[in-house]
Amino acid sequence: MKKISTIWLGGCSGCHMSLLDIDEKLIEVIKNARIVKSTPIVDVKDFPQADVGIVEGAVATKEDEENLKKMRGSCKILVAIGDCACFGGITSYRNLFEKEEVLSRVFIESESVEKGKIPQSNFIPPLLEKVKPVNAVVNIDCYIPGCPPNANVILYALKELLAGRIPILPSEMASFE
Ligand code: SF4
Repeated sequence: MKKISTIWLGGCSGCHMSLLDIDEKLIEVIKNARIVKSTPIVDVKDFPQADVGIVEGAVATKEDEENLKKMRGSCKILVAIGDCACFGGITSYRNLFEKEEVLSRVFIESESVEKGKIPQSNFIPPLLEKVKPVNAVVNIDCYIPGCPPNANVILYALKELLAGRIPILPSEMASFE
């Protein structure tokens, strides 16, 4: 039985929501597969070995970078899902500014903040200087762009991956936002 692992990094979770939008067809998919890790479905903190790993989101923090490397180490095939993972996407818009400017805008200058300060704690993963797509950190075997990719596209790709093939998206399925 094939094992599937998914994770989200610097993203909005929209790609995982699109994955869940497969709805009842997901049951059909996992008849011959087991989801061993997936934030919205199975709350597993470690990185079990998997045949197919799916990564949502760009690499925005030191923790994202470490978790992505653990995914690469634990998954035979690693798939970047969504524009943030594939290209940096919306998450990488902060690259238009310096990291300090972004933190200051959010935590000090924001209209909804009074006497704000930039939070500092060992429990808060530090931001990287710049946001990166996942292939800037590890090798990626397959890309499914879109913001988010349509559920039918994810379903098609999952079926191909579980059949042991790297999916080649038909052009009508590929979308780039
Ligand atoms: S690609 Fe779009 S839907 Fe997916 S995490 Fe990024 S912003 Fe969210």
